[in-house]
Amino acid sequence: MEVALFGNPNTGKTSLFNELTGSYEYVGNWAGVTVEKKIGKLKYDWGILIDLPGIYGLNPLTRDEAITTRFLLENRFTSVLNIVDASQLARNLHLTIQLLEFGKPVYIGLNMIDVAKGRGLEVDAEILAKKLNVPVAPIIARTGKGCQKIYEYLKEAPGSGTDFNIDYGSLIENAVASIGRLLPDIRGLNKRWLALQYLEGNPVVRSMPELQRLKDRLQAVCRELEADLQKEEGPAPLKQVIYKKRQQFIDEIIAEAVKIKDPAKRTMTETIDRIVTNKYAGVPIFIAAMYLMFCITFDWVGAPLSDLLDRFISGPLTDWIQAGLRQVHAAPFIEDIVINGIIAGVGGVLVFVPQIFVLFFFISFIEDSGYMARIAMVMDRFMESVGLNGKAIIPLIIGFGCNVPGVMAARTIEQPKERLLTVLLTPLMSCSARLSVYSLFAAAFFEKYQAIVVLSLYLLGIAAALLLAKVFSYFIKTEDSVFVIELPPYRVPNARSLFRSTWDKGKGFVRKAGTIIFAGTCFIWLLSYAGPGGLNVSIDQSFLALICGAIAPVFSPLGFGTWQAAAALVTGFLAKEVVVSTMNILYFVPDGSSLVHAVTEAFTPLSAYSFMVFTLLYIPCLATAATIQKETGSKKWTLFAIVYALIIAYILSFVIFRLGRLLGLD
Ligand code: GDP
Ligand code: MG
Repeated sequence: MEVALFGNPNTGKTSLFNELTGSYEYVGNWAGVTVEKKIGKLKYDWGILIDLPGIYGLNPLTRDEAITTRFLLENRFTSVLNIVDASQLARNLHLTIQLLEFGKPVYIGLNMIDVAKGRGLEVDAEILAKKLNVPVAPIIARTGKGCQKIYEYLKEAPGSGTDFNIDYGSLIENAVASIGRLLPDIRGLNKRWLALQYLEGNPVVRSMPELQRLKDRLQAVCRELEADLQKEEGPAPLKQVIYKKRQQFIDEIIAEAVKIKDPAKRTMTETIDRIVTNKYAGVPIFIAAMYLMFCITFDWVGAPLSDLLDRFISGPLTDWIQAGLRQVHAAPFIEDIVINGIIAGVGGVLVFVPQIFVLFFFISFIEDSGYMARIAMVMDRFMESVGLNGKAIIPLIIGFGCNVPGVMAARTIEQPKERLLTVLLTPLMSCSARLSVYSLFAAAFFEKYQAIVVLSLYLLGIAAALLLAKVFSYFIKTEDSVFVIELPPYRVPNARSLFRSTWDKGKGFVRKAGTIIFAGTCFIWLLSYAGPGGLNVSIDQSFLALICGAIAPVFSPLGFGTWQAAAALVTGFLAKEVVVSTMNILYFVPDGSSLVHAVTEAFTPLSAYSFMVFTLLYIPCLATAATIQKETGSKKWTLFAIVYALIIAYILSFVIFRLGRLLGLD
């Protein structure tokens, strides 16, 4: 049994998915959280459940919506589980009708009944079930209340399909019938549904090869219908006429099934939105919120915790491991790679776990509370002035955590060119991996001004992205922008799901430390251990020194022409944390004096800043580059993303270093 979850965005599909399958997929309070289909096993092994991106109708506008419509057409599945938001019934039922017309068995989960009740609405599930002729279960997906009922429906053998028809009026019905006669059998798809979607202009349906072949005749039916409708009801696009007929039907249902208990008290959400989305206060509030997040992460909570962890790893933990290794008489080579390679490299990155978790906690909070969509709204005007869409702010913010989900979040942007621009620019956002580099250098060179220096790098990344957006948008001409975003009601984030989504994001970082950073570290260590002269050579005679020494002169104009810096940057393509791992290994001093100290001898404050700027901008990491390739489907654009970043990084670092020199800085 394969059940597919359909519903409008932000109606609790993923919450229900997690409830029914026991998984922990990403839940957030804004439209566009799920941008890919997710598959899970139903509890008790009844079959599988497929979570899909939310859609308002089957007529896709965005890439994530197209994923859902394509799924409906191209995949075999047994039944549809349609989540309907009880507090937004009127809008949600448009999708429901199209799903019912599709003809597969449909079950409805009437979700958010708590929210509806809070607004003084009472939805009668029985009347709804009778009108739509399918089972309806009232549920609260967030807490799991009522979800048992859905199991019961699913457990019964799937019905033969829905029997549901709206009367669209004789003109449309005739057109539907004549299209139905023209169509061949296409994998058993419902002909009435195909005809209606065709008339509506659904691009996925229209581009099906079987329909392309009949294009001329089908278009003739459309034109004739339009002409007839015009005579009867005045000029209107077909799509709108069909929409109106559905609206009428929905209004009738709602009149019977929904009772308004106590109307029109201003909700909490409206009150908050008066302030937060205010024309003047909106942007300053957003900036203040970001600043606060920044202070807490780097100054107040995250950094002190990282310090503690650092002291633990480089102190007692190293001692214990060393003692343990000596106890078992490990070969000196082993001790060397474990202590100077792995602990130095991987441990040096793991110390940033606290800061990264604090940052992810805030990002999850912004997502779960419902503030994310407001940010997009208040920033839209500004973003549009640089050629981006207001929604682009969402990938950018997520990009602060990690660029990979940031790039993927661009899927919800309707306009292809704005989406491409956003994908290309998201890697300039300073992700948490880069934070490890800043922390090291800021501690070494800018002790008193750490926070300001780090903040300046974040701002530099944002400024570069906005400026380049402006420049690129001259070449990648954007068409008229559309900005439609749902403002979901605010919710106090549920503690459990908040911690879970923080953990979900943060665990990627920990996993990276155990895999790619671990592997990179071992590799670097070996290259620095071996040289043409054999093993255990002096590090300056190692392969690493020789290879990277050849590249190093390229970086001399930027102030860091040492082979160590070159090695760190080259390996940083794997993941930006590897920059720090590499330095930890290369500057490892056996007498226990810290990396910070070693670094102060190799860099000056100016060259350190220039190095940080370069690290911020120079290249999307391997995982991000792979994601860009996947999202744009184009090697050319991926290459472009890498090359432009290298050029910008080089120019900016050069300017900073030279200008600093001119000003007499060192
Ligand atoms: P999706 O976009 O449809 O996958 O929706 P999500 O599962 O991501 O949920 C959207 C938001 O609604 C999250 O903040 C959930 O915690 C919240 N939510 C889901 N179901 C309910 C519910 O029944 N009641 C309330 N109050 N909130 C819910
Ligand atoms: Mg979802």
